[in-house]
Amino acid sequence: MTNQTEKTAFNNSDAITEQSVIIAGGGHVGLSFALLLAAQGIASSIVERKKYPKLSPKEDAKRTHYLDSRNTALSRRTVQIYQEIDLWDQLQSHACRIDSVQVSEQGSFGYAQLNKEEENVESFGQVMENAWLGRKLLLAVQQSPLIDLIDGANVTAVEQSATSVTLTYDTDTEKQQSLTADLLVACDGRDSTVRNLLDIGTKDYDYGQTAIVGVVQTDKPHEHVAIERFSPAGPLAVLPLTDADGDGNDPVQAGYRRSVVWVCKSGEEKQYLEDDALFMATLQKAFGQRAGTFIEAGRRGAYPLTRVLAERQVDGRIVIMGNAAHTLHPVAGQGFNLCMRDAHVLAKMLGNQVLRGEDIGDPQMLKAYERARQKDQKRVIRFCDAVVHGFTHPNPAVKLARNVALIAFDKLPNVKPLVANYAMGLKS
Ligand SMILES: Cc1cc2nc3c(=O)[nH]c(=O)nc-3n(C[C@H](O)[C@H](O)[C@H](O)COP(=O)(O)OP(=O)(O)OC[C@H]3O[C@@H](n4cnc5c(N)ncnc54)[C@H](O)[C@@H]3O)c2cc1C
Repeated sequence: MTNQTEKTAFNNSDAITEQSVIIAGGGHVGLSFALLLAAQGIASSIVERKKYPKLSPKEDAKRTHYLDSRNTALSRRTVQIYQEIDLWDQLQSHACRIDSVQVSEQGSFGYAQLNKEEENVESFGQVMENAWLGRKLLLAVQQSPLIDLIDGANVTAVEQSATSVTLTYDTDTEKQQSLTADLLVACDGRDSTVRNLLDIGTKDYDYGQTAIVGVVQTDKPHEHVAIERFSPAGPLAVLPLTDADGDGNDPVQAGYRRSVVWVCKSGEEKQYLEDDALFMATLQKAFGQRAGTFIEAGRRGAYPLTRVLAERQVDGRIVIMGNAAHTLHPVAGQGFNLCMRDAHVLAKMLGNQVLRGEDIGDPQMLKAYERARQKDQKRVIRFCDAVVHGFTHPNPAVKLARNVALIAFDKLPNVKPLVANYAMGLKS
């Protein structure tokens, strides 16, 4: 490996190998992947377009929307992965357990419920505001001696040879900077620059829907229940949240704050973003009193929904990961969790290469990674699409069939644990 610029973390004495990785994109997946690599003793440089603030652990009481205003349901498997790298202790106070999941459809009789006691699990997962998740990941990255975060840097070119890969980027003050490493992992999101530079095509599908996400307060405590409700306008998820500061000092807020993902037809989102009363009345109509009365709605963001699947996830010494590899509909809260399982498997494979003294950018090994992840990825993609299409189909026969399916799901003893394991990311 050759080093073409001064700005590098490659010769770090804490690393167990001189081999290193460049990560393009420092969103939740890029930051998490760098931390997973650091846990394997592998140094990395993250090249991120946005400018991040320098965080201090002493001023850690304030959440900030460095990354975005959404909330993420972390599956059991994702929690286990963060536990493995000793990060969960720092995330936990801002995360809210899901003890049961209720699924139903507006105007129909079908209903299903999963309970942690029945499935014999500690919880089905945890919900965390991205404002906190992003902050904690960024802080951990900035504190790691094995990670060099180059922010305010826009990727412009990629080149690879038989032995290395070089990434070029521009900052406000310096153009055409470059880094060379053994492996490049592109975590640069749905419109991935690296994927486009490599001419890797995508299979795209526009759902014609926009997700509106935000935080609401209800007059009934959430009791750690996640509610998934399907309405003619689109699917809706209401998830339990901790109090805003995650310090437990506001017991009222802690039990009554909920995360909402409300999906409407694209073009209709403006009114729901701007009008609190209309937004809450719409939620109330779709929900009835399942969550109690919606009494306050906070800041909301809108996300147009498309499925984007990269035609290949490996090109020589380059891996496409995260939303750059597969952007999914958020209905089942699976997108980030799937990315974390990809990241975990690749980090483990790279760690094993290092232990064997082998090349971490070996294209054959990277192809093996791509093959190893196919089954889980295909299953999750199919599952998300089945939920979206199955529950929005207006045909009365289809509607009847899905209600019968929900009831059957609720009653059949062998089906529930299987689906619960899939949803928790414990089975692939
Ligand atoms: C409404 C909604 C709700 C969701 N809820 C859940 C949930 O509950 N559970 C779940 O598992 N998943 C959920 N998801 C999915 C989850 O948000 C994504 O899977 C996850 O954010 C993907 O992260 P990422 O880091 O791959 O991409 P991104 O977050 O898009 O990050 C990409 C990064 O790359 C940087 N970048 C881009 N181009 C360049 C460039 N040229 N140079 C340098 N840097 C660049 C960007 O600045 C950005 O920081 C949800 C998605 C939506 C839309």
